[in-house]
Amino acid sequence: MEILEGKKYLITTYGCQMNLHESEKLAGILTSLGMTDCESEQEADIIVFNTCCIRENAEERAEGNIGALKQLKKKKKNLIIAVGGCMTQQKSYAEKLHKTFPFVDIIFGTHNLEDFKNLLLLKLNGKKTVVDVRDKEGAIIEGTPKTRTSYPNAWVNITYGCDNFCSYCIVPYVRGRERSRQMSDVIAECESLVKEGYKEITLLGQNVNSYGKDLENTDFATLITEISKIDGEFRLRFMTNHPKDLTEGLVKALAASPKVCKSIHLPVQSGSDKILKLMNRRYTRKDYLDKIRLLRSYIPDIAVTTDIMVGFPQETEEDFADTVALVKEAGFAGAFTFVYSLREGTPAAKMDGQIPAEVSKDRIMRLIDLQNSLNREYSKSYNGKTVCILCEGYDEKKDKFLGRDVYGRMAYFDGTPDLIGKFINVKITETGGISLVGKIV
Ligand code: SF4
Repeated sequence: MEILEGKKYLITTYGCQMNLHESEKLAGILTSLGMTDCESEQEADIIVFNTCCIRENAEERAEGNIGALKQLKKKKKNLIIAVGGCMTQQKSYAEKLHKTFPFVDIIFGTHNLEDFKNLLLLKLNGKKTVVDVRDKEGAIIEGTPKTRTSYPNAWVNITYGCDNFCSYCIVPYVRGRERSRQMSDVIAECESLVKEGYKEITLLGQNVNSYGKDLENTDFATLITEISKIDGEFRLRFMTNHPKDLTEGLVKALAASPKVCKSIHLPVQSGSDKILKLMNRRYTRKDYLDKIRLLRSYIPDIAVTTDIMVGFPQETEEDFADTVALVKEAGFAGAFTFVYSLREGTPAAKMDGQIPAEVSKDRIMRLIDLQNSLNREYSKSYNGKTVCILCEGYDEKKDKFLGRDVYGRMAYFDGTPDLIGKFINVKITETGGISLVGKIV
């Protein structure tokens, strides 16, 4: 497509690491057509929105930003605007978007991202609006070019989709059934990343620890073990995990693999058995706490982080108290806390006992206060310690360089750009909330 040579693209991403990595694939496709990225909508010839529908506020932000382009599109007739991702994978939403924002040129879903070049071709060949949202996930497509934007970190998909059907979650409906990449493809990608100089690889999936259940003779423990054998200096992380799939065999493999970081993200969502059942999480609070004990029996200093939701339908003050008690008992190194967001089409949306916003707000504030005080306590244990940090970049606002240790704790320090991508020793001098400040030693 010579017509695109030298043109500029801008991709805006909403949501999680999965989406950020998918935007790297969209960028890879556009780069392979001779385009380069740019910083502003005014400069761009193609603007892509990669959307998320997990929570209402991500949808509202995306809609606001798409709507704001109406005037620009009037001035710049050849500008191409594309919207894809989880929001538009819902056909009814794609239709609504088409009607509300008729100036959008391409609408696609999650199942045909790899086909973006062909969608673009249809538009360039004169089709007024290209709307292509597929019902079914196809086979995994290997070899899509990627323009990575997060050196020295690299994301590697190992599974797509999810089979868990937690009752509040839209993901299984917009990402399809769980599919695992072949182990040889994952290892080949990791090997080439290490050769290219990436220092941290994060394996991605909605539920990485059930990797391989649709393949023969492999599982996540085997994959982790094999990736750890790759020669070179790098760290291995993975996200996200489902507690029900965290087996002793996997924990042993994590403990035995020196490349694996000493941190795990293990979403609990609630400390109440009643709510966990309504959420269809398929574990009890005891099961969850047993998994933490199991992890610590093999890796005593492992940092466990979690996701917690408040305000799920029928959550009483007693249920919330169970969550608070679990947070105190589990000793999380960090937690992402959310208010339940009703997603149409999920079983939870039809449940009785939806919780008023002000009740949820009060609970989330109390939970955040608790987790903040636990974060401060956890951070205090770093005071005066020297930790090995992978320098990841520079934070303009703080005017400091930053990076994480093997436990996933972020540290800020003075440095120079040549440190990015290097492992350095930093002595921690200040501990605040979730992050640390130190000096290179
Ligand atoms: S495990 Fe549950 S919360 Fe996570 S993506 Fe699957 S359905 Fe959603």
